[in-house]
Amino acid sequence: MAPMRGRMMDVPLTLVPLVERGVGLYGRQVVVTQRAEGPPRRATFAEVGARAHRLARALHDLGVGPGDRVGTMAWNTQEHLEAYLAVPCMGAVLHTVNVRLHPDQLAHVIADGGDRVLLCQRACLPALAAIADRLPTVERVVTFGEGEDAPGGAGHLDYEALLAASDRPLAWPDLDERQAAGLCHTSATTGDPKGVVYSHRSLYLHTLSLLATGFLPGGFSDADVVLPVVPMFHVNGWGLPHASVAVGAALVLPDRFLDPARLVGLLAGERVTLTAGVPSIWGPLLQRLDAEPTPLPGLRGILCGGAAAPPTLIEGFDRHGLTVIHAWGMTETSPLGTTVRVKHLLEPALDPAARLRVRASQGLPAIGFEVRVMDLATGELCPSDGRHQGELQVRAPWVCDGYLGREDREAFTADGWLRTGDVATLDPEGYLRLVDRTKDLVKSGGEWISSVALETLLMGHPQVDEAAVVGQPDPRWGERPVAFVVARPGAEGGLTPAALLEHLRPHVARYWLPDRILFVDAIPKTGVGKFDKRALRRRLAEGAAADTEPGAPQGSR
Ligand code: ADP
Repeated sequence: MAPMRGRMMDVPLTLVPLVERGVGLYGRQVVVTQRAEGPPRRATFAEVGARAHRLARALHDLGVGPGDRVGTMAWNTQEHLEAYLAVPCMGAVLHTVNVRLHPDQLAHVIADGGDRVLLCQRACLPALAAIADRLPTVERVVTFGEGEDAPGGAGHLDYEALLAASDRPLAWPDLDERQAAGLCHTSATTGDPKGVVYSHRSLYLHTLSLLATGFLPGGFSDADVVLPVVPMFHVNGWGLPHASVAVGAALVLPDRFLDPARLVGLLAGERVTLTAGVPSIWGPLLQRLDAEPTPLPGLRGILCGGAAAPPTLIEGFDRHGLTVIHAWGMTETSPLGTTVRVKHLLEPALDPAARLRVRASQGLPAIGFEVRVMDLATGELCPSDGRHQGELQVRAPWVCDGYLGREDREAFTADGWLRTGDVATLDPEGYLRLVDRTKDLVKSGGEWISSVALETLLMGHPQVDEAAVVGQPDPRWGERPVAFVVARPGAEGGLTPAALLEHLRPHVARYWLPDRILFVDAIPKTGVGKFDKRALRRRLAEGAAADTEPGAPQGSR
């Protein structure tokens, strides 16, 4: 017999009801945007919602129709939020472009997206000017925000003038839940940027999953004040703009002002309750708090993802009474897949060290998000014993099943799971732990060395600020680990490679000890603030001695 059909409405899962709910129910809620000078700008949800309808009319009048891509080159601002709402709800596709990309990649990403209109914050115009002659698909550039239209401003349209002239706000049309709503390219940490196309349905379900009680400790509600430090061009701002609007939480947007002093000012001044960013944002912020303790009484969660959160970072914030919530995700997964919650039933059994170990894991999957760890050598699932390492594979309605304009299936298994390129373990309680990215593992003499584990240990040394480990080709072993270390200010003279090797020795097998430890001023970062290991490998190939800090000890074992 055929299965009995359910008799429920097939209402399309689109962003429209989420946006309309937030704007309709929480019209007085605020969107706050940091400014270069003076107090932050404030607008209500009602104002932002009304402006989104006007923006949609203006884009429509510029010829933007269903399925057309509208690119944004912007930091976290009110206008960027307006585009987040208007573009998908009018049936077009919001393409958030990473403004920190190298010009060649930037030009590639915009052309790959086929963007017809670009909404560009004036502060990002220099990046646009650098590729002005390489924008074959772009018909119109609309500029907004503080600053001047120069350089390269000729022919640009003014956002505010367009909104003022759009006197018949566009109503949201009926949409198909499977049509594209958003497009974001991967951040190119390990390869060229690839386009991930989000549907309305995937963003709807991702938003619900983020809002589900239990995904973030303490939940997420209209009592929250949310500060996404993560740029809105990095994977949907980790879903926080959509979720905040849907649930009626205040949004505090830092624009491009991401230095610790200004962030602390905003966190304190706006009584932020939830914030989110990559570890390279939180490290300097913690140092700032250590140097100048500032009460942040409302702040109940610091979401940290995009790269591994070292336990020392988690402990450091604990000292200030602030809770880091570790999360894992990818551009391909919208992005949120896992967050750490310490299971209620586990709590009594955990001593402080065990609890920290849980909190430093990548956590538990969201409802609706499936994870498995595959032993690629045997083709069997790894046992969930916390030890067996394999490739992390995931599946969910908000995980991509292909890339924009690419037919290759390398990133997918025959049974339709995404191969993440991460190596991981699962423990018996279901906690995921990332060992490394496949491309970053150091393969030495047939063994694998986790660059992340070495970095975490090195960053656990009290005189180390940051550490990144990469493999250097080696004629005998294939590859050997090399560590780049940034010493804490004031520690430079006292910190030696020998001391760091002694620090590592009790924790790792002998062959894990880096062949070289090089002191540098800073670790290069990618456009989204991750360690740029491709740049480090290039430096090694070119001769890293040039990087060692003048006067600092040069390392070799
Ligand atoms: P890119 O792949 O170019 O870096 P993404 O931002 O999509 O762009 O990065 C996703 C990758 O970031 C994951 O596959 C994983 O390697 C890494 N990552 C994300 N969150 C974490 C985390 N909490 N711990 C360790 N690695 C993480």
